[in-house]
Amino acid sequence: PLVLGIETSCDETGIGIVRGTTLLSNTIASSMDEHARYGGVVPEVAARAHLEELVPAIRAATAEAGISLAEIDAVAVTCGPGLSGALMVGVGAAKALAISLGTPIYAVNHLVGHVGADLLRTDEDQTDAPLEYPTIALLVSGGHTSLLLVRDLVSDVELLGETIDDAAGEAFDKVARILGLPYPGGPQIDRAALEGDPAAIRFPRGLSQAKDMARHRYDFSFSGLKTSVARWVEQRQDAGDPVPVADVAASFRESVVDILLTKAVAACVDFEVPRLLLGGGVIANARLRQVAAERTDAAGIALRIPPLSLCTDNGAMIAALGAQLIMAGHEPSSLEFGADSTLPVSEIQV
Ligand code: ATP
Ligand code: MG
Ligand code: FE
Repeated sequence: PLVLGIETSCDETGIGIVRGTTLLSNTIASSMDEHARYGGVVPEVAARAHLEELVPAIRAATAEAGISLAEIDAVAVTCGPGLSGALMVGVGAAKALAISLGTPIYAVNHLVGHVGADLLRTDEDQTDAPLEYPTIALLVSGGHTSLLLVRDLVSDVELLGETIDDAAGEAFDKVARILGLPYPGGPQIDRAALEGDPAAIRFPRGLSQAKDMARHRYDFSFSGLKTSVARWVEQRQDAGDPVPVADVAASFRESVVDILLTKAVAACVDFEVPRLLLGGGVIANARLRQVAAERTDAAGIALRIPPLSLCTDNGAMIAALGAQLIMAGHEPSSLEFGADSTLPVSEIQV
């Protein structure tokens, strides 16, 4: 089926068009620049930007895919989790589009969409092996840090653990601020860390020490790490010493990467699932990719990382999930659905 996907859960206005598992277009407009001076995503600003970007993005996506709207078989839209106001703009647009075109609509879960991204192939590249089940998925972005056990994309997704405070991307953004680096902090810290020693400072590994693993086996915590970096930097400043930005960045990054992969590999081992899928904007992190490759290799786990344009928020992954639901024979959503900012990951379709 030819499916148009709409994603507006955070600061990306994403429109994607797929035919089954073939990616036809993936248009993304981000309001990130507008949030930069606030140091994080401002919900009201994001919602307004979606309203402005949606129609141009739909036009650009259909043009790039070389199709007209009339050819679309179904509309898929993110209905949660995410920022309420931002989600509502996409949901409203998707309903209007489906009603005017007379197509069914599929209201889907954003996090499950991130997993669905791994199904997509371009026309040129049909070679890569398809997503296999079961798989463990680690999703890390500015808003989420979740570990999932995916037995079947359209019918069985289980949340194993998530962050109990800050998301990993949020931690990168906050630590960058402490170091005087601009927003978004992830790429800045990645760059600064190139010159630094990851073993210079031993920052804490929240919830991943042996004593925590019993109670919080798959949960994450990054706020203690952030506070620890803040305190370390403050002490240097109070003493009148220069702050070794590169060493702090490299040591902080090492801690985040260690926490994330300790948990992800533990889940693969515990559930005897020899596959790990990574998703979310933090996957851009160079050290995370490197250590993920090393540790999965050592444990005999197959590592899957979709292209970065499909890891960050996008409409193509939402369209891909919609197409899977259709192919599995699921009924469309009734038009009564709304936006659910805390939609649990086990609710794949609303
Ligand atoms: P959501 O949480 O809803 O998926 P988001 O917009 O917060 O949405 P993304 O756009 O997927 O998430 O990712 C943005 C986050 O990724 C930011 O916190 C940013 O700092 C982080 N990030 C980007 N590049 C890197 C990098 N190289 N290293 C670490 N973090 C990075
Ligand atoms: Mg974003
Ligand atoms: Fe996301």
